[in-house]
Amino acid sequence: MPVVDFHFHVTTADEYAPWLLEWLRPAMKKGEPAEHLHRVLDTPQGMLEYLDEQGIDYAVCLAETNPLTTGVSPNDRVATFCQASRRLIPFANINPYVTPNPVAELTRCVTELGHKGLKLYPVYQHFYPNDRRLYPVYARAQEMGVPIMFHTGSSTFPGARLKYGDPLYLDDVAVDFPRLTIIMAHSGRGFWYDRAFFLARLHEHVYMEITGLPPQKLLVYFPDLEKLADKVIFGSDWPAVTDIAGNIAAIRRLPLAEEAKDKILGGNAARLLGLS
Ligand SMILES: [Zn+2]
Repeated sequence: MPVVDFHFHVTTADEYAPWLLEWLRPAMKKGEPAEHLHRVLDTPQGMLEYLDEQGIDYAVCLAETNPLTTGVSPNDRVATFCQASRRLIPFANINPYVTPNPVAELTRCVTELGHKGLKLYPVYQHFYPNDRRLYPVYARAQEMGVPIMFHTGSSTFPGARLKYGDPLYLDDVAVDFPRLTIIMAHSGRGFWYDRAFFLARLHEHVYMEITGLPPQKLLVYFPDLEKLADKVIFGSDWPAVTDIAGNIAAIRRLPLAEEAKDKILGGNAARLLGLS
C-alpha cells in the first residue's frame, strides 16, 4: 500500500508572505526556513529526494491564491512543477474574490494543466463553503469527477476568519452535490471534531483528512476512528511539519488494525486519486 501525503504546500519562499517564513522558524529543526524551502522546492528532483527521505510515495501539491493571508502560489506554476513526476499530484485553487471565472479556471486547470483536484481555503479567503457563488464550481467538479478539499477548523494565521472553517456548512454541499468527493482538511481542528466525524459517517463521499492533528491524539479526538478507517486520509501540512516520517511512525504505533493504518496512510487516498 503506498504512503500518500495529501497535504503538501509547494508555495516557494518567494511566494509566501514574509511573516510566514518567520512563523515557520520553530518548525525547522535547524537552519533557515527559506533554505529548507529552497532545498525541497527549487527543483522537482529536490522534492522527490525529500519524499524518499520521509518515506512518502506520492504527495498532493497545493496551489493557493491567498493574497490577504499566506501568499500566492499560482495554478500554472504548481502544474509545471508537478509535470516532472507522477508522484507529484497537483491540486488547483480558485479564490471567489480574485479568480475572474472560477468554472472556466477549474476546467482549464483539470483539462489543460493536469490538476487532479481542487483545494479551497474558506478561512483564508473569507467565504462559507455553502456560498452559492461556489455552486457552479461544485457542479463542474462533480461532473468532471474532481475531488475538492476544504480547509476546515482553526488556523492561527493573521487574517484568518475561523467561522468559515465550520465543517457543518459542508453538509449543504454534500446534500446538493451527492456525487462530489469532499475532503475536510484538518477534520474540523479545534472546535469541530465531532461535526467532521459525523459528516464523514453520514455522507458517502465526505472524507476526513487529519493534517495538522498530533497523531498520538487521534484516538482522543476520534475514539471510533477505526470504524471510519475507509474515510480517513493522512497529510503533513509541510512545511509546517518537517518530520513527516515521525508522524507516519506515530500513526503506525496507534492501537488500530494494520489494515486501517494502511488505508489512512495511503490506501484511501490512492483510491480517490486513481493511483495504482
Ligand atoms: Zn495546509
